[in-house]
Amino acid sequence: MNPPILPPPLLVDRFGRQVTYLRISVTDRCDFRCVYCMAEEMRFLPRQQLLTLEEITQIAQAFIALGVTKIRLTGGEPLVRRGIMALFEALGALDGLKDLSLTTNGSQLVRHAGDLRAAGVSRVNISLDSLKADRFRRLTRTGNLDQVLAGIEAAMDAGFARIKLNSVILKGRNEDEILDLVNYARIRDLDISFIEEMPLGLIGDHDRAEVHYSSDEVRADIEARHALIPTTEHTGGPSRYYRLDGASIRVGFISPHSHNFCDSCNRVRLTAEGRLLLCLGQEHAVDLKRVIRANPGDRQALQTAIRQSMPIKPWGHEFQLGTQPLIFRHMNRTGG
Ligand code: SAM
Ligand code: SF4
Repeated sequence: MNPPILPPPLLVDRFGRQVTYLRISVTDRCDFRCVYCMAEEMRFLPRQQLLTLEEITQIAQAFIALGVTKIRLTGGEPLVRRGIMALFEALGALDGLKDLSLTTNGSQLVRHAGDLRAAGVSRVNISLDSLKADRFRRLTRTGNLDQVLAGIEAAMDAGFARIKLNSVILKGRNEDEILDLVNYARIRDLDISFIEEMPLGLIGDHDRAEVHYSSDEVRADIEARHALIPTTEHTGGPSRYYRLDGASIRVGFISPHSHNFCDSCNRVRLTAEGRLLLCLGQEHAVDLKRVIRANPGDRQALQTAIRQSMPIKPWGHEFQLGTQPLIFRHMNRTGG
C-alpha cells in the first residue's frame, strides 16, 4: 500500500491562528523621515547586515511551502533598495503565491509602477497624510507632494487590481484634512485607510499621546458628511472596512489603540536584517539570517526554524498611550 499523501504542514500558532501572510521589510532606508516613523537623525544598517535579495527569495519560498499565500514588500521605502525590481520579478514568478503587494511612500512610482505591475504586483498601498505641499513636507521632513501625487497617477495608469491610500492622522497636524483625503480618494476611486499612530521607537518630534486622534474621531468626522456602511470585507490586513455611501470605495480604520485587531492576526514580519518578528508590537523573534547563512541552500532547515517559531508568537501587542514606548525599534525597521 502506498503511504498516504500528507497535506503540507501549515503555520498555526498556539492560539489556533494560521499564518498566511508575510510582510517583508526589504530595507530600513528611506528618502523620507516621517515624523511618526523616524527620528530626524537615523543610523541605518550597514549593507552586509541586510538579507540579500536571493536570501529574501529563499525565505519567501519556504513560507509559501508552509501555506503562506500573501506577501507584501515594505520598508523603509522598498523602492529605494538597489536592484529591488529583480526581487519583485522573482517573487512574482513563485508558484503558490496568490497575492504580491507593496507598501510605498509613492516617491518612486512614476519610474516603477509599470514594471511592478508587469512583475505581478496586484495591490499597492501608498502613504498620503496631507494634500498641502508645505504640510506634507513638514510631516515627511523631506518629501515632495507633487512627486507622490504623480506617483499615485502612475499607479492608476499601470492598472493594479487595487490601490489603497494610507493616512496616519495626528491631532493638530492633519486631522483637518480627513474629508479632503476621503474626497481625493473618492474622485479617483481609490480605497483609503486611516491609521492610529503606534508607539514604535523614539521619534523626538512630538508626544504621541498628545497627538493621538482615534479612529472613532476620524469616523465621526467623515460621517458628518458621508454615510459609512459597515462591511465584513477584509483584505487579510488589520483594517476594519466601511463602504462610502454613494461611492464604490472602501474606507478602512487601523486602530491598534482603540479597536485591537490581534485576535484575527494572520501575519508575521521579516525585518531587513532577517529577524522573523512574530508580532509588530513585541520583540519575540527568530534570526532567520543566521539559519539561512548556516545552512546554505537547505530549505528544510529554514522551514523547520519557521515552524518552530509558531509557539512564541504572542497573543498581541500592548501599546499604551502616555508611556515611553516598550518597543525601541522604529517602524522602518519592522515594515508597516
Ligand atoms: N515607506 C513606505 C510607506 O511609507 O508607505 C512603507 C513603509 S512605512 C513604515 C508603512 C506604513 O507605516 C506607512 O503607511 C506609514 O504611514 C506607517 N507608519 C509608519 N510609522 C508609523 C507609526 N509609528 N504608527 C502608525 N503607522 C506608521
Ligand atoms: Fe519612510 Fe515610510 Fe517611514 Fe515615512 S513611513 S519615513 S516613508 S518608511
